[in-house]
Amino acid sequence: MLIKRTERQARQGKLAAALADQSSGRLDRRTFLRRSGLAAGGLATLGTISLTSVRKAEAGPPAGSAPVTIRKNICTHCSVGCTVMAEVVNGVWTGQEPGWDSPINRGSHCAKGAATRETVHGDRRLRYPMKMVNGQWTRVSWDQAINEIGDKLMAIRAKSGPDSVYWLGSAKFTNEGSYLNRKFAAFWGTNNSDHQARICHSTTVAGVANTWGYGAMTNSYTDIRNAKTMIIMGGNPAEAHPVSLQHVLEGKEVQRANMIVIDPRLTRTAAHATEYVRIRNGTDIPVIYGMLWHIFKNGWEDKTFIEQRVYGMDDIRAAVAKWTPDEVERVSGVPGAQLERVAKMFATEKPATLIWCMGATQHTVGTANVRAFCIALLATGNVGAPGTGANIFRGHTNVQGATDLGLDVVTLPLYYGLAEGAWKHWARVWEVEYDWLASRFTQTTAADGKVVKMMETPGIPSTRWFDATLLPKDQVAQSDNIKAMFIMGHGGNTVTRMPEAVKGIEKLDLLVVADPVPTTWAVLSERKNDTYLLPIATSYETSGSRTSSNRAIQWGEQIVKPIFESKDDNEVMYLLAKKLGIADRMFKNIKVENNVPVAEDILREINRGGWSTGYCGQSPERLKAHMKNQAKFDMLTQRAPKDIPEIGGDYYGLPWPCWGTPEFRHPGTPLLYNTNLSIKEGGGTFRARFGLEREEKLPDGTIRKVSLLSGTYSKDSEIKDGYPEFTLGVLKKLGWDTELTAQELETIQRINPAAPDAVSWSLDLSGGIQRVAITHGCIPYGNGKARANAWNLPDPVPTHREPIYSPRPDLVAKYPTLPDAKQFRVPNMGFTVQKAVVDQGIAKDFPLILSSGRLVEYEGGGEETRSNKWLAELQQDAFIEINPADAADRGIKDGAWVWIYGPADTRPKAKVKALVTERVGKGVTWMPFHFAGWFQGVDQRDKYPKGADPIVLGESVNTLTTYGYDPVTGMQEPKATLCQITAA
Ligand code: SF4
Repeated sequence: MLIKRTERQARQGKLAAALADQSSGRLDRRTFLRRSGLAAGGLATLGTISLTSVRKAEAGPPAGSAPVTIRKNICTHCSVGCTVMAEVVNGVWTGQEPGWDSPINRGSHCAKGAATRETVHGDRRLRYPMKMVNGQWTRVSWDQAINEIGDKLMAIRAKSGPDSVYWLGSAKFTNEGSYLNRKFAAFWGTNNSDHQARICHSTTVAGVANTWGYGAMTNSYTDIRNAKTMIIMGGNPAEAHPVSLQHVLEGKEVQRANMIVIDPRLTRTAAHATEYVRIRNGTDIPVIYGMLWHIFKNGWEDKTFIEQRVYGMDDIRAAVAKWTPDEVERVSGVPGAQLERVAKMFATEKPATLIWCMGATQHTVGTANVRAFCIALLATGNVGAPGTGANIFRGHTNVQGATDLGLDVVTLPLYYGLAEGAWKHWARVWEVEYDWLASRFTQTTAADGKVVKMMETPGIPSTRWFDATLLPKDQVAQSDNIKAMFIMGHGGNTVTRMPEAVKGIEKLDLLVVADPVPTTWAVLSERKNDTYLLPIATSYETSGSRTSSNRAIQWGEQIVKPIFESKDDNEVMYLLAKKLGIADRMFKNIKVENNVPVAEDILREINRGGWSTGYCGQSPERLKAHMKNQAKFDMLTQRAPKDIPEIGGDYYGLPWPCWGTPEFRHPGTPLLYNTNLSIKEGGGTFRARFGLEREEKLPDGTIRKVSLLSGTYSKDSEIKDGYPEFTLGVLKKLGWDTELTAQELETIQRINPAAPDAVSWSLDLSGGIQRVAITHGCIPYGNGKARANAWNLPDPVPTHREPIYSPRPDLVAKYPTLPDAKQFRVPNMGFTVQKAVVDQGIAKDFPLILSSGRLVEYEGGGEETRSNKWLAELQQDAFIEINPADAADRGIKDGAWVWIYGPADTRPKAKVKALVTERVGKGVTWMPFHFAGWFQGVDQRDKYPKGADPIVLGESVNTLTTYGYDPVTGMQEPKATLCQITAA
């Protein structure tokens, strides 16, 4: 949120000093901002930046006679996927425009997109590799850096095993970079491989996938225009995904749609709502159950949809019955009459969609929250049609793609998991021996004497890396503690409990930070040696594909070659693989030119292995044709007319699943689970991935068998009923196996010579099983029911549990967190901590709820955007929002400095400015999470390498955030903790 403009003006001198001699254009920043429409507020845009105004900025050198080349890439600052058109003269990026033809942003950008040229040309970037020598940053060559890092890694591996090195990757990678990074960890011999999805939407992925099959947004940003009712819960797209709000608001206007915002904070998004529901932080499940209470009571549920397509809704009815309007209001603060009104709109004014973001996911009950949202959609029949669905707004450009490509501790690329069959699948795709891969990993012995194959054991989530460094060795279930962090494109201030993270950083034997700018990792600790900074090219200096939140894949061209001495991610991984002796195997089928692996070749390898998720049909050629023909795609349907060469009938970006080989020309799937479309036209069913039937134990002790297959089917399906996933055996039973070509059959038999009938649609490298199933109108993964009861999760039916640091100790006994357990190789002590918080009366001393979120000006940990002078102009101080009543109680004035104290045992503190505002209710505070560079009141600017310090520094909210982890995913809990504030 912006601080008052008068305040910014008063501080002009400070920023001007920080930027002295850095203006690269003839216009000053103020003029640029005025002309581009940003100065009035930073929210920017919503289509307000016209071609004329962008051209007028003239932030680059004056145009000469050299030819101008236009190159298209994708804005890196959120997952909407706006096209950036770069004007390049003599290899220099001289100007930019929003993509006018893009069927996603159609000529719009927000503040971040409009200022993104500076991401490349900013002079705060790292220019060359550096290492810390006795506490001083020292320039080194790339050769020296790679050699020294490689030697140190090998020494750590020899002493502590491969699991002692953590490979932290990035949502800023291209798909190809993400895939390489996961492959790198696999070839190194560890599953300690993760990225930003852990801390934003890992709970979404787990919750959604466990409900109906795939862990992704079901519909799309533009499809929201079709909704008659939209609920935005725990999201603030006006600031986090500004161009998406254009679609939301136009839908609201054209459809006269209900726009309901449910959030603890009256956000800029909520300001546009037709109904705003203020809830207490962390009470999403009571609110959803409160809605369902009215829906079931009034018979507003979609009985046919439930009967045909949902398993276990009766268990939800039983759980919801306990959430009477009185209990919901007692727990969440929402009056029953308001929830009845909202529930009626959601259930009866259809189609309705539920949009969510990190306000919902970042909790110890994050997976359960997501499941509750999905269940609300299922109960009202709002899945699988235009204007409906789970519209899940993800954070970075390619957080969806990086998740898909397996930058995760629980799976190999494309959700194959970690079981032996998954490893053998990828070994076949990579053409390496499975036994060699297995030899890269260690085995350990569990307490019960069983041998544990680390190859098949989930790794340590990025939220817990420092626990795995600091805890006694016997509490970390691998051969040794984490000894080295190799971090590519990931901020250090995005993870909770920063004071502990600082101790973890200090304990590492090796720290490597590979990023376009030095991140918080570089300055937080008192490390003196064994620390390296590698300058990495931005996403605009590398070509490859990116997957937006709506599963659409866009090809970005390299705009300019990596500047200074920076190298692109793929080159760095290649050089390091060479040093470690794994490059020959890793790049066996990937061409490498001048040390840079060719992105097109990497994507082709992904296509050859990506059957499980339908990442098999999107060849580089098809994706490039889409970028070339953007204007031909309809914005609402995202489809190109059938008679257009190269792209006819395709959906923009071939959103996955895009079945079969590229030659099969599946058009992509714009909406998941849409039975009104034939599969070959992008239709789908819920995935049959949870078995064919379920045995339920009845109260009298007898067993009832319930089918998990759907009671309906998709358009043109030749099987008029539910059906299991396809294997060669299933094709044989149907008599369809004769339609496989001899070559397809030969490939299938080679995959499993002993039992070819068991080869499934996701393991068949020929694509034949998918082709034949789809030809008969059937979806390869089967036609099953969605699950309201997900029996494999800790809470099969979503259950409200109070935050670990609850402001309501009176509710903890009734709604406690789950018992302590060992999860992801480390202990989760949430129950013990929650009990201590109650026993010690922490909520009395720290009575204010503390939450965090995004600003329109910055992104993620913020180092990159706070180094951007156009954006830094707009937001210069870290701040905390506090309600006027709470401010008055503490004698705090708007704009004054305050100390915030966190409730953790270390009693952390932070010094920021107060923004006194009614946006937050009484007893609630909120901080943006993009700041870093101050730590507990101390400015750390002089710890950055000279000239590479971000323009704006400030305190990180995660200095104050506390313990708490979702049991399914290891998600942290920064959205509901406690604090106390005093005037500074
Ligand atoms: Fe578009 Fe998001 Fe970039 Fe803004 S930050 S221009 S909404 S992609």
